[in-house]
Amino acid sequence: MSQKRVGVYPGTFDPFTLGHFDIVQRALKVVDHLIIGVADNAIKNPLFDVNERKAMVERDVQQLLAQGMSVEVRSFDELLIHFVRNSGANVIVRGLRAVSDFEYEFQMAGMNASIDSSIETIFLMASDKYQFIASRFIKEVRRLNGDISPFVSNHVAQCLAQKFSSKK
Ligand code: ADP
Repeated sequence: MSQKRVGVYPGTFDPFTLGHFDIVQRALKVVDHLIIGVADNAIKNPLFDVNERKAMVERDVQQLLAQGMSVEVRSFDELLIHFVRNSGANVIVRGLRAVSDFEYEFQMAGMNASIDSSIETIFLMASDKYQFIASRFIKEVRRLNGDISPFVSNHVAQCLAQKFSSKK
């Protein structure tokens, strides 16, 4: 009997980028259902609160739902492994960019595997053109009035514009 593969793609998504979107599309090729888990992560002091981040992801994945893809967005504020278990998922999906991501991701996957060895972590690489995109650089470029349109959806670009104008 083959078990349904349910994946969780967790992240802060502050904000959701085209790099994240690329990983979501790739993940949908390997799991039957994907839950994008938006971590509350108050400790990271995000620019957008968790509901704003979740709404941005929902808006960006609407096009995938329209294509019949099995994807949903949830926020969480608990240990990732608990969220994965409580969601009935069995795979954690993470994205890998450069070597610099590797050490952190390696440690996190190791910790999670030691907490629950029944849950596998898989790593996917974004395509070349999205590899260098990072939420933190996007925020910095936008804060300094640079053009971020190649890195995020129009909707996320609008949310960033609003956020920075309300902070002035
Ligand atoms: P976290 O705070 O959990 O690292 P992020 O939102 O920064 O959350 O990233 C979520 C996941 O997406 C991480 O696995 C990260 O490595 C991956 N990721 C982020 N940007 C990219 C990108 N441009 N290409 C591939 N993976 C990415």
